[in-house]
Amino acid sequence: MGRIYNFSAGPAMLPVEVLKEAADEMLDYRGTGMSVMEMSHRSKAYEVIIKEAEKDLRELMNIPDNYKVLFLQGGASLQFAMIPMNLMKNKVSDHIITGQWAKKAYQEAKIYGTANVIASSEDKTFSYIPDCSDLPISENADYVYICENNTIYGTKFKKLPNTKGKLLVSDVSSCFLSEPVDVTKYGIIYGGVQKNIGPAGVVIVIIREDLITEDTLPGTPTMMKYKTHEKEGSMYNTPPAYGIYICGKVFKWIKNKGGLEAMKAHNEKKAAILYDFLDQSKMFRGTVVKEDRSLMNVPFVTGNEELDAKFIKESKAAGFENLKGHRTVGGMRASIYNAMPIEGVEALVAFMKKFEAENL
Ligand code: PMP
Repeated sequence: MGRIYNFSAGPAMLPVEVLKEAADEMLDYRGTGMSVMEMSHRSKAYEVIIKEAEKDLRELMNIPDNYKVLFLQGGASLQFAMIPMNLMKNKVSDHIITGQWAKKAYQEAKIYGTANVIASSEDKTFSYIPDCSDLPISENADYVYICENNTIYGTKFKKLPNTKGKLLVSDVSSCFLSEPVDVTKYGIIYGGVQKNIGPAGVVIVIIREDLITEDTLPGTPTMMKYKTHEKEGSMYNTPPAYGIYICGKVFKWIKNKGGLEAMKAHNEKKAAILYDFLDQSKMFRGTVVKEDRSLMNVPFVTGNEELDAKFIKESKAAGFENLKGHRTVGGMRASIYNAMPIEGVEALVAFMKKFEAENL
């Protein structure tokens, strides 16, 4: 079939079943005589697609009725601005800086108000999650912001921070639907979909309904008010229709696999294969403290840049794509999202063992 193991941090692998189904429906979506790409978003057929996508996501994540699901555009990065524009009533946000994406969100929030860094792991190249049990939360903070899984550094919050009663806003772009979550713990939980769910551009925002108000910062564009999209069921303007259709298929794929508990078990099994190998290897080592390791993004190094480069080159030739670490970190990174099969991780570890034997 020509498919390879793609370890990209995103856009990333999607389930083959989903891609095949989409391919089968490309020329004639269920008797409409057109593809979903060519279809009016106001059509009956599309209405079913978006409604079903929301229903399936609600079921998967057990989203309570007082939370709205918005399918928006602009990727996760547009949320860095939309969140302060909509939530900053006191113009204060508190931020935990655990990597580049958390930092970008913080820098954007600073445009709109006082953004405070209340914890950071920058001192050790973001290789751990700071202790968040007793943070100096600002008295008038509108929200506390985290990036729950740090795509570049491979860390994950295993326990949510104690926000001392303040709203928690979380970017889950790189751990979306990888394990069960308790939505009620968040004011907003959102993510770009291009890692675990679908094509880039779509961002899913799950937001407690009382946070959706007309009371946004002065000058907030209509398109950047949650209220605009909530009122119109994510159809204020043309939504990223084809992307949402693929997301809907992935939701069904996850449901068929047994939901988020099953995803978690599958992801833990995969990650353990790689981490167990790294922990005993004489050549490779993981770069993150054990207790904060991500199930999705696994950065590792040999400790020798030349050897890293050799590994990346040879792994590519052997059919393992996108193992190069982020340009700011170097080394390697294997992103093993939901759609990466166990066989992909097993094959990677077999390759690493061979490389170690040949180069040690
Ligand atoms: N947050 C996280 C955790 C990410 O990994 C990324 C992208 N890799 C982003 C935000 C930015 O997403 P986008 O490119 O969709 O704006």
